[in-house]
Amino acid sequence: MTDALHAEVLVLGGGPGGYTAAFRAADLGKKVVLVEKYSVLGGVCLNVGCIPSKALLHVAQIVHEADAFESHGVSFGKPDFDLDKIREWKESITNSLTGGLTKLAKQRKVTVVQGYGKFTSANAISVETESGTQSISFDQAIVAAGSRVSKIPVFPNDDPRLMDSTDALEIADVPKKLLIVGGGIIGLEMATVYHALGSEISVVELMDQIIPGCDKDLVTPLQRRIKKQYKNIWLKTRVQSIEAQDDGLKVSFEGDKAPEFEVFDKVLVAVGRKPNGLLIDADKAGINVDEWGFIAVDKQQKTNVPHIFAIGDIVGQPMLAHKAVYEAKIAAEVSAGHKSGFDALTIPSVAYTDPEIAWMGLTENEAKEKGIAYEKGAFPWAASGRSLSLSRSEGITKVLCDPESGRILGAGMVGPNAGELIAEAVLALEMGADAEDVGLTIHAHPTLSETFAFANEMVTGTITDLYVKKK
Ligand code: NAD
Repeated sequence: MTDALHAEVLVLGGGPGGYTAAFRAADLGKKVVLVEKYSVLGGVCLNVGCIPSKALLHVAQIVHEADAFESHGVSFGKPDFDLDKIREWKESITNSLTGGLTKLAKQRKVTVVQGYGKFTSANAISVETESGTQSISFDQAIVAAGSRVSKIPVFPNDDPRLMDSTDALEIADVPKKLLIVGGGIIGLEMATVYHALGSEISVVELMDQIIPGCDKDLVTPLQRRIKKQYKNIWLKTRVQSIEAQDDGLKVSFEGDKAPEFEVFDKVLVAVGRKPNGLLIDADKAGINVDEWGFIAVDKQQKTNVPHIFAIGDIVGQPMLAHKAVYEAKIAAEVSAGHKSGFDALTIPSVAYTDPEIAWMGLTENEAKEKGIAYEKGAFPWAASGRSLSLSRSEGITKVLCDPESGRILGAGMVGPNAGELIAEAVLALEMGADAEDVGLTIHAHPTLSETFAFANEMVTGTITDLYVKKK
């Protein structure tokens, strides 16, 4: 047992939520101890999630763009992949970011304890470190212990040919035939990467569309493009079993259009993530955790134990780094006596597929489900000079407005860089803008960002870049 430590604010978990909470609390004058099980900060996002996947997606983008420009008179020849070098480059990015976090923690005098932490009471935690058990008492705690990959227990999870997202990001090799189980964001992002590297891709999705929940008109351009690129996209299909054989993984399906079984070189399972609430002895601190592992919090991120906060994936969907970061600042500020609370109007979603899909605020699915009236403006990127100059024409930008006031309720985009463009829509919603405000905002020409102004002009009836017949 090492000497006991005391923290005014103890943060459990060093992902984007945890390190943000620790840094913000330290900036507000608190003595902070941050407990992280890995030797580097950054959590899933920096180490085995958002950042490395974006690096690999950039490789995919370069491959696709180079390929597409052959018919426009620019030829590079077939790409040659040095997987070791790609991996090295990807790791150099994560190392630079995690190294930066270590520095930021030092600058703020945040004590980082490496090891697995579990509550022992409502004011203490014990951490299994390399040098023994470290006990840490605290006045307040912020739980940011995140989530883990959901596994399907009947699958041969120990077979290295069955991958989760962390394995897939390692790009150990490029399988000839790759099956992706789950047509959600992780599945489709990794499909983009492996397709560019040369795998033959099949996707199997339980629901009747890929990225279930996202409006169909935003998904359609992606669906059309990958239908041409991938071998199979089986919707409304369930994987019955996966059997390890010498020649590959034999996968049996149950669904309308899928075969009874097929053998794949590798299978990536991306069917969601589950929260870590049941793995931290939260009950010893008196924190309520539901049967799934989620911890309920109020608008100030307080759990049922008022001096213990929880943030990020562990408090519920959507499991997104930017939501965790926002919640982290609230928890840290409330712990320092500020009157902060969760009052964001929306949490944007982005699928970094090709094309990218991004949406925020009210969706058409939700509006129809709840009977919310809206007026829609949808601008096709086929009429955007900037999009055509990228040799892409399938994009759409749409905005949903209140029919009475014109106020923006929601927006979505599909097309290259949609993930960057959504920021303007989020700001418009947060600032209470209406369609006229955005339509009358001068957007630089030629940019993809103009498409958001044009979608709003379609609502106000002032669009000149398209001809819309008067009603
Ligand atoms: P997800 O929930 O987004 O998608 C899982 C998909 O698998 C769903 O479409 C679901 O219908 C399907 N599915 C579930 N069980 C199945 C089965 N047995 N057979 C076939 N399909 C099945 O989960 P994910 O893609 O694994 O991502 C996990 C989390 O990480 C999500 O919360 C996601 O938002 C987050 N994430 C976000 C980003 C991003 O913001 N760009 C990127 C990666 C991950």
